[in-house]
Amino acid sequence: MIDFTLSKKQQELKEGISGLAKYVIRPMSLEMDRKHEVPETFLRNFMQMASGFRGSAGHFGSDASEEERPRDPTRVSETNRTAAIGAEELAWADAALLLCLPGPGLGAPPVRATGTTEQKKRFFGMFADMDKGPLKWGAYGLTEPGAGSDVAGIRTSCRKEGDHWVLNGRKCYITNGGRAIWTVIFATVDPAQGRAGHRAFVVEKGTPGFEVGKIEEKMGLRANETAELVLEDCKVPAENLLGGEEAYQTKEGFMTAMKTFDNTRPLVGAMAVGIGRAAYEYARDFVKANYLIGRPIPRYAAIAERLARAGRRLEAARMLVWRATTMADLGQPNAKEASMAKAAAGQAAIAACIDAIEICGAHGSLATEHALLEKWFRDIKVYDIFEGTGNIQRVVISKRLMPSLKGF
Ligand SMILES: Cc1cc2nc3c(=O)[nH]c(=O)nc-3n(C[C@H](O)[C@H](O)[C@H](O)COP(=O)(O)OP(=O)(O)OC[C@H]3O[C@@H](n4cnc5c(N)ncnc54)[C@H](O)[C@@H]3O)c2cc1C
Repeated sequence: MIDFTLSKKQQELKEGISGLAKYVIRPMSLEMDRKHEVPETFLRNFMQMASGFRGSAGHFGSDASEEERPRDPTRVSETNRTAAIGAEELAWADAALLLCLPGPGLGAPPVRATGTTEQKKRFFGMFADMDKGPLKWGAYGLTEPGAGSDVAGIRTSCRKEGDHWVLNGRKCYITNGGRAIWTVIFATVDPAQGRAGHRAFVVEKGTPGFEVGKIEEKMGLRANETAELVLEDCKVPAENLLGGEEAYQTKEGFMTAMKTFDNTRPLVGAMAVGIGRAAYEYARDFVKANYLIGRPIPRYAAIAERLARAGRRLEAARMLVWRATTMADLGQPNAKEASMAKAAAGQAAIAACIDAIEICGAHGSLATEHALLEKWFRDIKVYDIFEGTGNIQRVVISKRLMPSLKGF
């Protein structure tokens, strides 16, 4: 049975972030969106403040110490669920800012899942001195033009030459790709082998042949960078092949991308719940302030029913997120539950944003400096696209519910 009671540490984290979210981040949100950036001073202060709970929010921040600590089998980990709690609170304030937080970010789960002890120490260790030196980011490079949902179809090639590998190809839509000090790049030794041909490399910024292409202009999450990456005869040292060659003798190694999703999808779901909750609460407060006096009751009843439905769906999505993250913390296989959490959260949050705009009438569609609804509406759509689209989550779920059925 899964216990949804928050631990003392989780409760403190939730309260700490929620104060910051309300009084500091939310007031900056529209300006960051307009300027397409999060102020570096804010990020630096946040990282210093967050160092107290860095271990628990490790997915988003530097987590070097956590990686090196021997795992205590008697201690039940809370890392994933705690990160989900923090992610929801931060996304409530500003989802783009959350994606901008320094640290290995989406690059962390594949290194954690497949990296050798030496690689974890080396790559996570690069983030250890951020409080003194420059801010640093990691990134995750899987998607290519023509291979997004179809992960098996990646074409970026890799071939071994002596003590290094040579990579050629293009990656697109990579979160923090332009500023990352290293990116986990997925490539193939032979496209005909599908996933069995995949290899994952940590490619460091400045490696000859590794360039940043265009930075995308996006509908939402504008304060966060999404970049194209180009690899042209890029020589990557053999010791940067994640897990070493032995890792690819078994199914485990080439399942790195999939194992990553089992950890990240619920967190993306948590962020979606945060944005949806922001819109839902905004509409609820708008109704309280404007609709209760002098409005016809039938109209209010319909609006109240709509708000109740939005709240119910968001809470159900949060439970799915907490279930999937708790399973990850317990080391249980959670691919189906991770997809359920992400699919439900994306849809619940998109519906909540649409409901909120409609409930607020013309006010809901304003794009003035006070109108966050418009921003949340632009931000939320991608939560049903990245880390696997809603359709792909449904494919994953149905394959696990009906394993004997072919043809999905
Ligand atoms: C803001 C942003 C940030 C991103 N960050 C990263 C990142 O850091 N790293 C990274 O590697 N990628 C990243 N991505 C890429 C993202 O993961 C892909 O866009 C996503 O996987 C979808 O791939 P696609 O865009 O190629 O769409 P497609 O795969 O071409 O899908 C198009 C449509 O077809 C549907 N479809 C496809 N296959 C099926 C199927 N089998 N069954 C039913 N329907 C199907 C999809 O649901 C979708 O509706 C990011 C994208 C965005 C927008």
